[in-house]
Amino acid sequence: MRLIALISLLLLTACSMPSPSASNAAETGKIDERVERLILQKEAIVPFFEPMKIREGDWLDSQRESGETFEEYAASSPTLPTAERRTIYVQPVGRFTAEQKRAVSLAADFMTAFYDLPVRLNPEMPLGSVPKDKQRRIEYRNNLQIRTAYFLDDLLPKMLPKDAAALIAFTNYDLYPGDTWHFVFGQAMLTERVGVYSLYRLSDMTLEQDNDKDRLLLRTLKIATHETGHMFSMKHCIKYECLMSGTNHLAETDRRPLDNCPECMAKVAWAMNYDPAERYQKLAAFWQTNGRPEEAKVLLEKAAAINTVKVILGRSSARKMFHRCREQIIQRSTSQAS
Ligand SMILES: [Zn+2]
Ligand SMILES: [Zn+2]
Repeated sequence: MRLIALISLLLLTACSMPSPSASNAAETGKIDERVERLILQKEAIVPFFEPMKIREGDWLDSQRESGETFEEYAASSPTLPTAERRTIYVQPVGRFTAEQKRAVSLAADFMTAFYDLPVRLNPEMPLGSVPKDKQRRIEYRNNLQIRTAYFLDDLLPKMLPKDAAALIAFTNYDLYPGDTWHFVFGQAMLTERVGVYSLYRLSDMTLEQDNDKDRLLLRTLKIATHETGHMFSMKHCIKYECLMSGTNHLAETDRRPLDNCPECMAKVAWAMNYDPAERYQKLAAFWQTNGRPEEAKVLLEKAAAINTVKVILGRSSARKMFHRCREQIIQRSTSQAS
């Protein structure tokens, strides 16, 4: 009975697909089969996520954003890794504490499982000589801040390897993007494939109620995966409480899951040609090795939900119904276009 209900739900979802991918199909005469499959698979993990709830002071409290569905993303010609540019390079810049070193090293491992791309962790390097106009000292904290342009324009482009999908610098210095800003957690130049993120403020426990011992690690992983998502043209998510949602402050970062919502999961799976169940299994293995079995358990439940869809799609009757549904969508979009 549950299986029949799930089949109905999935077919209903397929039949009520929005127009962007349908109009894409009318142009090409063929809908990407991976898109079709992921449209069904993403529905299977909806129960694991909460709809976006905007609180006072949150990112969406002050920013107007339109979001982007998986179907819109797949039809938007996003920037993707190529056969020649597949490696993500992580470059630590500055002097790190043992805890910060651990967080950066684990972020490299986590991103390998998250994006299914090779990740290279470079040896630590010093900050170098920063021009006067790209640094300042803020009086109320008495700390040196480095303008992000130093990293994005001066330091990183010179170091960018030919096979880099992205070069991401982590630094322990505080960052600011321009004179009118107090600080920024990070900034990326998407077309240049470089980004810089600061760990300086991530150890701040003043907002914490539970003081998770891995707070710095969790925040570092969230920032690394979120910003890398932008490098593959992923917009901020507004539909769910999601790793790809914008954040305005650390409490908001902490509240967000360390995982992509159904829409954003499908974007990664499609962009990297990465089987979603396999992806969840690799992420679960990461947490089993790194001491958070409760995270691993939920990830394996998501893998099981995805695998249920695979079983359904393996049944010829369901497949036939699904394809009939898709033909109706194509006919509808063709007649709308003409
Ligand atoms: Zn962002
Ligand atoms: Zn999302």
